[in-house]
Amino acid sequence: MVSDNVVPNVGDEIHFADPFKSCNACTHQVTGVTIVDEGMWPNIPCGHPASYRDLCPSWGPVDGCSCERMLGYVPHPSVEQLQVSFP
Ligand SMILES: [Zn+2]
Ligand SMILES: [Zn+2]
Repeated sequence: MVSDNVVPNVGDEIHFADPFKSCNACTHQVTGVTIVDEGMWPNIPCGHPASYRDLCPSWGPVDGCSCERMLGYVPHPSVEQLQVSFP
């Protein structure tokens, strides 16, 4: 069944295409959030109901991280590094 409803329901998960998001509570990579009724939405996979930040200033859905090409250096950890700092 196809639905055009884009309003998330409680319990749904939103998954990010940008892999360079970091949990402000534990610095682990945040790949999505789980929708809850109210308050902060828990980060996936760490589960912290914390905000997260975008680490990659150049990320785009087509090229991904192009920091090296645009800036000459990469001002953030790699995805692999983000994935190991799980609490
Ligand atoms: Zn976390
Ligand atoms: Zn980048």
